[in-house]
Amino acid sequence: MNSPSVLTRVAHKFGGSSVANAECMQRVCAFIREDVSAGKECVVVVSAMRGVTDALINLAIAAFTKSPEVDAQFAALREKHFTAIDELKLTSSESLKKSLSDSFAKLNIELKHLKSVGKPDGKALLEIQGLGEVWSSQILQAALGGTASDWAWLDARDVLTVSHNELGAVIEWPTSNLKLASWKKKNSQKHAVVTGFIASETDGSHTTLGRNGSDFSGAIFANLFDSEMLTIWTDVNGVLSADPRKVPDAITVPTMSYAEACELAYFGAKVIHPQTLAPAMSKNIPIAIRNTFAPAGGSTLISAEAAPGGQPVKGLSLIENLAVLEVTGSGMIGVPGTAERVFSALHRASVSVVMITQGSSEHSICCVIREEQTSTGINAVQKAFHSEIKSGHIANVSAIPGISVLAAVGDGMVGTPGIAATLMSGLARARINIRAIAQGSSERNISVAIATSEATRALRAAHTSLWLSSQTLSIGLLGAGNVGRSLLRQISETREKLMREKNINLQVRAIANSRQMVLSDQPLTNEQITSPISKDAVPFDAEKFTAHVHANHLPHCVIIDCTGSDTMATRYAGWLQRGIHVVTPSKRAGSGDLAQYRAIQKATKSGAQFKYEATVGAGLPIIQTLRLLLDTGDELQSVEGMLSGTLAWLFNKFDGTQPFSALVREAHQLGYTEPDPRDDLGGVDVARKLVILAREAGWNLSVDQVQIESLVPKDMMSLTRDDFMAQLSKLDEPMQKRLNAAKAENRQLRYVAQLSQSGQATVGLVALPADHACCHTQLTDNLVQFKTKRYSNNPLVVKGPGAGPEVTAAGVFGDLLTVAMSVGARL
Ligand code: ADP
Ligand code: ASP
Ligand code: MG
Repeated sequence: MNSPSVLTRVAHKFGGSSVANAECMQRVCAFIREDVSAGKECVVVVSAMRGVTDALINLAIAAFTKSPEVDAQFAALREKHFTAIDELKLTSSESLKKSLSDSFAKLNIELKHLKSVGKPDGKALLEIQGLGEVWSSQILQAALGGTASDWAWLDARDVLTVSHNELGAVIEWPTSNLKLASWKKKNSQKHAVVTGFIASETDGSHTTLGRNGSDFSGAIFANLFDSEMLTIWTDVNGVLSADPRKVPDAITVPTMSYAEACELAYFGAKVIHPQTLAPAMSKNIPIAIRNTFAPAGGSTLISAEAAPGGQPVKGLSLIENLAVLEVTGSGMIGVPGTAERVFSALHRASVSVVMITQGSSEHSICCVIREEQTSTGINAVQKAFHSEIKSGHIANVSAIPGISVLAAVGDGMVGTPGIAATLMSGLARARINIRAIAQGSSERNISVAIATSEATRALRAAHTSLWLSSQTLSIGLLGAGNVGRSLLRQISETREKLMREKNINLQVRAIANSRQMVLSDQPLTNEQITSPISKDAVPFDAEKFTAHVHANHLPHCVIIDCTGSDTMATRYAGWLQRGIHVVTPSKRAGSGDLAQYRAIQKATKSGAQFKYEATVGAGLPIIQTLRLLLDTGDELQSVEGMLSGTLAWLFNKFDGTQPFSALVREAHQLGYTEPDPRDDLGGVDVARKLVILAREAGWNLSVDQVQIESLVPKDMMSLTRDDFMAQLSKLDEPMQKRLNAAKAENRQLRYVAQLSQSGQATVGLVALPADHACCHTQLTDNLVQFKTKRYSNNPLVVKGPGAGPEVTAAGVFGDLLTVAMSVGARL
């Protein structure tokens, strides 16, 4: 499979909830535009707006039953679409409204016709049901800019031709391909919006692919248009291990094979229509299932083979409203062909068999059929075995209603020892009575028939006993300086262990400095990671970098920004909106422009995480401690502390035995200071950290509101760095005076940041009594005291080494693992 960043033709399918209203449609347009601006050809298949198909069916019923509700229902449906058009504020609103008005007028005529006939009319019903897709797709085409923006509208009934057999719609591929070719001659636009769900019969009459059939349409059009990837956008984080309405802690299945998805869909997982897989499979088109409302929240990639190393069970599903049909009797023992006679009798009577089991004694044959076909099934079998029943060789043909089938699905599951046992013992522990068991010959499915009244309990019990999961993160690192390099080394040293022991798969796939970048489809090896900018490097391009990291086939992605650049920080909100998690040790965003900060926090609504623990106190758990206090209902009253490792070291050392300037020089040589020590001595860096903490607590503080005492005299700020270093001894006399004054009161000098209850923020040098916590620090220790409602007399203190690339990188790494946990990894 190609990397999604190099794909040229892609297909998207949006379900009803993804286009439920104007706001949803706008969101959808943003996803599509990402591909358009990356130069890809897009085919977008769309369902009716949420609830519209049901509403249309009800409307038709209301019409032929002459219900007084018809007019109100019609008006509500019209209103829903016209409101969406108005809210989208499109330039082409008028022509769009005209087209929809015409369609609604025709619908009105059809409804009147139904009313006058006074009974259901199959053809009219099929026509009416499919209108929702016509309307939603026309609106979406206009929202994407219409033909002027190179978007065509494709009414699937002009192209997609199907016939129907007992299994449902069968696609007439040659006809459909020919019709698409002639459609393309008339429509030269690069992209197309296509109606889901609807099609034409070979005689030209209008039909549908059956309820929930737009997924199928998505795959059919991906095939017809030769797309290289199909993304099905819905309202859950991909295919989950079970129906989330029944198992709330179901987790995303990151990858699965076509066969697994097909089996799961067949056994009732509504997230994908069972027929969807075939058209994709025949051209090897991978399918991603993603959540429109939380693009970063998790997704599933379905392709020929699931990624190796996953667990054997992919999902559990449930089919309800079934019955167990049982044929028993000693006369079946050793008699060849009995089973075949049972099933052919059922087949002749058009009774579909959901599951087959046969007791090894051959004393009984039982199968599971649809509940509504119970009596048809019993009659058919009784008729077929008429003489055996009469002679007493067959004792009984009976049925137990109220049955559900629970299926566990996964490639190779049946061949993995212990899975069936785990499933069964999980069910046994929940005291579920199993009526019948079947193991698919595909080795992909174990099914058990149970009472419907126990089905949800059974599903949860099975889920709990079976689940394990592995999490993959696609990682892009910006800034390969000290911290970036330390982080890459830490990742390379730890990732095998994380994979082995925690099932977390950290894939570094892009690394960049300000000039160059390396992008790789395969996760970079440890060797590549530790000498990143190699001969494979290309010039840095932020858009390409982002698109590469944000690969559709990987469920989660993270950009780690170690650049400290303002320009990168301006991109965070956009990344988060696109579902990309952002981790950074840079203070630019957290302490920068307040509006930008708010936009970033708002963008995390996508489900993507923004993490910046290392911005304050490097690897120390300062921000997470504050978060925990606040999230558990505590209130911040004040913050006090030492937030600069450099200044901590200087004042820990400064006891008068050496001049202050000598210590600054030593710190500079040891690499404890910034290249220009004024960046530390000026105090702005400390103020930024204080702002980050204040904002975490919901206070609207900005750096310009912080009273900062700089240790650099004003006239020395304009010097070159070398001149400043040469004149460093100018700092000595005033600093010595302050030290003497402090000593006289038995106090010590510390550079301290304070945020008071009234919101006043100050940063500067203070003389503290010897018993103050800040005087009990060493070397580059950072220290933060949180005074809160709960920790009011005795503040909560976090203290420890708070500077240097290794510990800063460790803080970033911690954030990375927090992101992994947020998407389901279990640490
Ligand atoms: P769309 O309108 O986007 O086609 P559907 O409502 O048809 O969406 O399908 C998505 C729904 O399927 C989810 O909201 C969820 O309730 C349900 N569902 C059932 N089983 C599963 C499963 N195993 N994984 C995910 N969703 C499932
Ligand atoms: N709108 C159709 C339905 O509700 C098709 C679909 O949404 O998949 O069944
Ligand atoms: Mg659906």
